[in-house]
Formats: sequence, C-alpha cells, structure tokens
Amino acid sequence: STAPRSVADLFAFDTLTDDEERAIAATVADFGAKRLRPHVAGWFEDGTLPARDLALELGELGVFGMHLTGYGCAGTSAVSYGLACLELEAVDSGLRSFVSVQGSLAMFAIHAFGSDEQRQEWLPRMAAGRAIGCFGLTEPDFGSNPAGMRTAAKRDGDDWILNGAKMWITNAPVADVAVVWAKTDLAEGARGVRGFVVPTDIPGFSAPEIKHKMSLRASITGEIVLEDVRLPASAMLPGVEGLRGPLSCLNEARFGIVFGAIGAARDCLQTAIEYAGTREVFDKPLAGYQLTQAKIADMALEVGKGFLLAMHLGRRKDAGEIAPEQVSLGKLNNVREAIEIARECRTILGANGITLEYPVIRHANNLESVLTYEGTSEMHQLMIGKALTGWDAFR
Ligand code: FAD
Repeated sequence: STAPRSVADLFAFDTLTDDEERAIAATVADFGAKRLRPHVAGWFEDGTLPARDLALELGELGVFGMHLTGYGCAGTSAVSYGLACLELEAVDSGLRSFVSVQGSLAMFAIHAFGSDEQRQEWLPRMAAGRAIGCFGLTEPDFGSNPAGMRTAAKRDGDDWILNGAKMWITNAPVADVAVVWAKTDLAEGARGVRGFVVPTDIPGFSAPEIKHKMSLRASITGEIVLEDVRLPASAMLPGVEGLRGPLSCLNEARFGIVFGAIGAARDCLQTAIEYAGTREVFDKPLAGYQLTQAKIADMALEVGKGFLLAMHLGRRKDAGEIAPEQVSLGKLNNVREAIEIARECRTILGANGITLEYPVIRHANNLESVLTYEGTSEMHQLMIGKALTGWDAFR
C-alpha cells in the first residue's frame, strides 16, 4: 500500500486560496483542535456550551463579524470567513452556528441597517465576544413563511411596545442583545416588518431554553417571549423596511453554511478513512476492500465538488456579485451532500459509528438542523426552481 493522501491534497485545494486565506483557516483549525475538539463531545452529550467563555475566546480569535469592516471587526474577505466557518464546523455545527448567529445575523443586521449609535453601542463588544447576540425571526407558527409573523410592535408616543413570541432562536437564553423582527402598526408611519435591537435585560423579555434536542446539542437554543416590552424610538433599525431586512441577514449566514457543511463532511470522511485503515475485517483492513473504496471515492468527489462550489460562490461574493439564488445552490447542495456523507461514513465505522467516541453520528445529527435552518432544502429548491423557470411555486 502507498501513503494515503487527504481529500484536500488530492484536489489541490490549496491552489484555490491565497496565503492570507490559508493562514486564517490554519489559525481557526488550530484553535478548533486545541480548544474545542477535546471538549465538544462532552458538550454535545451534556446538551450545553460554555457560551460566555467561548465568546471571549472566539472574539480574541477574531471570527465574530470577521467579514464586516470597522467597529472592531476584522474586515477579511468573504472567502476567509467561509474558510473559518468550514474549520469551525469541522469540529461541530453548533460552534459554527454560534459564530454565524453572532456575526452574520445579529452583527450584520446592526452593521447593515443600524444607526451609528446602535453600531457604536453593540458592534465592538460583540466583535470582542463581550456581548452575545441572537436573531429572532422564526415563530412557533411561522418558519419557512416569515411573512406570516404575529410579533407586533405598536407605537406608544415615541416608544415601541413589542408583544409576541419567537421560537428556535440560537443563543437566545445566553444573549445580551436580540435583533427581533416584528410587524409594525401600518397606521403609525413605519410600514410592515421592522427590526428592533432589544437588550435582553429589559422588563418583559424572557428566553426560556428549549431542551431535549437530539441535534445541535452543543448549541443553546431558546424561545423569546415578549410581553409589553417597551423600547425607545431609537431601538428600531432605521436602515431597512420589510422582509428584505431579515432575508438579507439570512443570506449572509447561509453563505457561511455553504462552507461550513463541507467542514463537517470532511471531518466525517477523514475519520472514516482513518478508521477503515486500521479496522480489520475478514483478515485485512476495511480500507483494502473495493466496496469501501467505492464509498470513499464517491464521498471525496462530493466533498471536492462542494468545496469548489463554495469557493466559486465566495469569489462571487467578494466581487460583490452574488445573488440569493446562487447562495441557495450552495446551501442546498452542500448540506444535502454533507448529511449523506455523514450517514455513509457511519456505516464504515459500524457499531463504533453510533457513539460519541467518534464525531460521525454527532455531525450527522447536527446536520439535521443545518438542513432545516437558514431555509429548508425545500425552500432552496423553490428558490432555484423559480430562478430557472420563472414560476413562483412557494404558494
Ligand atoms: P416549517 O416552515 O413548518 O416547514 C416544515 C416542512 O414543510 C419543511 O420540510 C419545509 O421545507 C416544508 N415546506 C414549507 N413550505 C413549503 C412549501 N411551500 N412547499 C413545500 N414544502 C414546504 N430561527 C431564527 O429565526 N433564528 C435562529 O437563531 C434559529 N436557530 C435555529 C436553530 C435550530 C437548532 C433550529 C432547528 C432552527 C432554528 N431556527 C432559527 C428556525 C429555522 O429557521 C426554522 O426551523 C426553519 O425556517 C423552518 O421552519 P419550521 O421549522 O417552522 O418548518
């Protein structure tokens, strides 16, 4: 037998990135290996995350809002941000979610649509990990169709009064600030859906944790309950009206997932290849059997193609020329392939594949959430279908 090569080496992935991009990926991978990987199975098993400590460390690493500029953000390329997501999700989708929600959802909303006062107040603290953010769009009755949301913001003098409930909100129970999307009173001036920057210690705000998840366990998820939450006029995000606001934030986070999913898939495949090299069945290593090699070769192709797609979209994004339906191509393909790969790798590990000794079942379970959040696969099929046919089939 010859020395095995990695998928990245086989595809010559390094030739697609520059020195700075590779350095950022290596720094995040190193942090992942030293600080996250030794603990992540335990966090997953316990259904928790040491969010405060990790926020400070990830802030120091510079990954929160890293593709944003100013206000203490690193101002890297979109590709570098994607590669950081990839290396984080190679450890666990929950950790990548932590960074996605902080940077691409909460910080991006404030950065893109906030007043200068809102930016100054929150962004430097959030970039440093001294404040944790969350993003409340989904409601108990409205996920794929956020236009139906019931959370309402009514005017009372200059103030806003928020009432309603949000569901499945990553980081909500540990957040210092929530970007909450609500329907404003049409008669009162501002039209339709608007975003509000809500400090979570305000009276009437609560965020009970959602327990008993079988997926994304190393991530804290909660509801948001708003009971007559009184906010000053300055709490509204002035820069955007309507669903374009939350949808453009989701587009940012989805972009990170296009890369991230490849990280989870790569980690599963690498684990399966190593396992197959040492596990002897019928008197020789599993890696030496043709059926195993067919699985490995096919999975490597999908990891490679997915990475090429991610890099293509990353370069388009850096050129300022990416369309939402193009991000849909990447999210749909890469998450769907990643979950298939995780399950196929699980077969290679046999019974050992079902334990937390190996990352494979953890990735497979996590990817169930990744398949659903940031637009389900079906929503992305409908986006792509609409782009290709011109027909809107959402309703
Ligand atoms: P539904 O919208 O009820 O969909 C159920 C099924 O119906 C899906 O398969 C869907 O694709 C399908 N479907 C819907 N419409 C159509 C149609 N027109 N045609 C065909 N099929 C259709 N949300 C936030 O706002 N912030 C967060 O931080 C956040 N974090 C999350 C973390 C986790 C772990 C999870 C699981 C979810 C999170 N979400 C968050 C919520 C997530 O975005 C929603 O779950 C997602 O949008 C889907 O909504 P739903 O669960 O209500 O499913």
